[in-house]
Amino acid sequence: MTTTSSLAFQPVLERIAEEIERTPGRGRPADYIPALAACDPRRFGMAVAEPDGTVYGVGDWREPFSTQSLTKVFTLALGLAREGDELWEHVGREPSGNPFNSLVQLEYEGGIPRNPFINAGALVVTDRLHTRSGDASQELLEFLRAESANPGLDFDEEIAASEAAHGHRNAALAHFMASYGNIDNEVQVLLDQYFRQCSLTASCADLALATGFLARHGVRADGARLLTRSQAKQVNAVMLTCGTYDAAGEFAYRVGLPGKSGVGGGIIAVVPGRCTLCVWSPGLDEHGNSVAGVAALDRFTTLTGLSVF
Ligand code: GLU
Repeated sequence: MTTTSSLAFQPVLERIAEEIERTPGRGRPADYIPALAACDPRRFGMAVAEPDGTVYGVGDWREPFSTQSLTKVFTLALGLAREGDELWEHVGREPSGNPFNSLVQLEYEGGIPRNPFINAGALVVTDRLHTRSGDASQELLEFLRAESANPGLDFDEEIAASEAAHGHRNAALAHFMASYGNIDNEVQVLLDQYFRQCSLTASCADLALATGFLARHGVRADGARLLTRSQAKQVNAVMLTCGTYDAAGEFAYRVGLPGKSGVGGGIIAVVPGRCTLCVWSPGLDEHGNSVAGVAALDRFTTLTGLSVF
């Protein structure tokens, strides 16, 4: 089936949801904090947003969930908008091939993280955004509220506190990079900022809409430009190569779209010029990607023929 008109998105989503419903084996929710471990792996939602803000959805697509690392895409975009290319002097843009919270590459790369989507890289991006904006998490929240047209979006203080209580590795990463001079703010201030961002709660509908600027080549929902066309291309490229932990090659192979996953079970994806997607199902595979989420996006690109390849 090839989608030629936007109306065809709704039947595609319904077909995918039926197929997912019949699929056994959903993986296991993240268990490093209790709030995520308690999620039911059979929950499933999926939304598609067109560049004009029309949104389609199926299943639990209006149910708020823990966005976790999906927020790394938005902080990267906001950081690039504020700082431009200088940001790339502090964080690389190569896939790491290591788990998202790995410390090992940092030492021989002089405290410069491999990319903005592993935790070390996201900490650096948040640090720089915090210095430039005065409050990185507030800037993120206001951006997401505006782009999703949902003023009710917010952080989940309980999840943020739980992240902090279990955040020894993120603290180690931040201190380690600070020892190389690659962190500007007090480590504790940076960690509070980072954990708040991870705790943001939003639905597939909110996130498909909020990702729209990447399908509109850098233009926000109200028509203002956030990123240059070239910067939007760069963010999409980094999502494609680094957005799904150490399984980005497999994700590109199966889905063929720029995408970013989070351990809450969400994945956002972009068809530049055409639409943005968000899928949520809390059961994860061994890399930390949502099992049903990857399967659903795989089916979407197969059924519609919409991919970057
Ligand atoms: N809060 C998680 C951490 O920093 C986010 C992990 C993720 O979604 O990749 O460990």
